[in-house]
Amino acid sequence: MTATHFDEPPVAQRRQLVTEIPGPRSRALEERRRSAVAAGVSSTLPVYVERASGAVLVDVDGNSLIDLGAGIAVVSVGHAAPEVVGRVTEQASRFTHTCFMVTPYEGYVAVCEELSSLTPGAHEKRSALFNSGAEAVENAVKIARHVTRRPAVVVFDHAYHGRTNLTMALTAKNMPYKDRFGPFAPEVYRAPMSYPFRDPDQMSGAEAAARAIAAVESQVGAENVACVLVEPIQGEGGFVVPAPGFLPALSRWCTANGALFVADEIQTGFARTGDWFACDHEGVVPDLITTAKALAGGMPLAAVTGRAEVMDAVHPGGLGGTYGGNPVACAAALGAIAAMRDRDLVGAARRIGELVSERLAKVASSSAAVGERRGRGAMQAVELVRPGTREPDAAAAKRVASSCHAAGVVVLTCGTYGNVVRLLPPLVIDEALLVEGLDVLAGAIDALGA
Ligand SMILES: *Cc1c(COP(=O)(O)O)cnc(C)c1O
Repeated sequence: MTATHFDEPPVAQRRQLVTEIPGPRSRALEERRRSAVAAGVSSTLPVYVERASGAVLVDVDGNSLIDLGAGIAVVSVGHAAPEVVGRVTEQASRFTHTCFMVTPYEGYVAVCEELSSLTPGAHEKRSALFNSGAEAVENAVKIARHVTRRPAVVVFDHAYHGRTNLTMALTAKNMPYKDRFGPFAPEVYRAPMSYPFRDPDQMSGAEAAARAIAAVESQVGAENVACVLVEPIQGEGGFVVPAPGFLPALSRWCTANGALFVADEIQTGFARTGDWFACDHEGVVPDLITTAKALAGGMPLAAVTGRAEVMDAVHPGGLGGTYGGNPVACAAALGAIAAMRDRDLVGAARRIGELVSERLAKVASSSAAVGERRGRGAMQAVELVRPGTREPDAAAAKRVASSCHAAGVVVLTCGTYGNVVRLLPPLVIDEALLVEGLDVLAGAIDALGA
């Protein structure tokens, strides 16, 4: 392509297929890729993207696809959001890097101010910025251990926290994340999660928390726990929404026992669930919160935000990194946050949640393959099972995703058992486009029974 795309007409917000999926140009690029890109890095849907805007991807063959994955909950403000593109362009033309640890700049400070005001709790806060979610989680654990002088980290079944050595240890699922990549970091302990669909019937959030706490107290010892690290709604693990009361009980136990409650809101954060953060739903105030994905509208940026006295307990120079809080990524974050605020994307996520859950509930009632429909706001999923059982059916999830992809609708799967189809649309998606995508998904689920 030539130098600039700015003169091109905006991408129409519609689905239109002009070749099979993937088309011939994408297939040729896939061939090229095989001789250059490591096989361990794979792609859900190998259509090569040429440009994108809003909720539509345009591939190199000229197909327009509806994106119900948002690059894994990243472009919540939509692809190429003008608020993000404008600030990135402006910042890139002034300077792209100095290293905040060498000579600082305002954007980093401004992003930390936004994080202080938006994250749960009215207490005094500080933030540190990093490049990826995994790096933020690593740093949250570093900080928790440093300030508590304790070693143990408690995580949960089905958890996903990243792919670096420590975060692999924190992540539950072996394949594909951990298999033969060990040995893993020590002092990580896994407790049972509240998973209403698979827990004993009627188990309350308080009971599920008591089950987890009993395991921690007997197998780890409360006085050894630096932090309890939890996704308030699990992402990769299957969009598992814990029963009400689970998170507040864990948070109270941490406070009573001198451990930090760390919320990993990397997937749930920034308006996705219909609140600014998923913890807000039950009024839970974490000691530390990790954010990334939607924070910077597609630029790599992550953060740890926490109580001032906890964050400031770390000695100067103890936290950082060459690229952490890169000025272009900070400019993108300020644009993304402005877009979320100005366009009321919290409200948009709630409306998307109502529309999607209504449509999926209808599919669930007509298809025995849907074990459960669940989620909150614009983070919704169906868990597929063998009809009449709760046995996970990963093959069904794969079939549903493949037929959506063939029809030009990007959906993702997830779950410890690989049997969950999840939706993470950009929060700016047009209602008609969303309905069209949902109709395709519903048709694919109905076809399972045929
Ligand atoms: C994606 C994700 C991570 C890891 O983020 P990366 O940027 O891929 O390192 C950690 N925790 C949660 C909950 C995530 O969804």
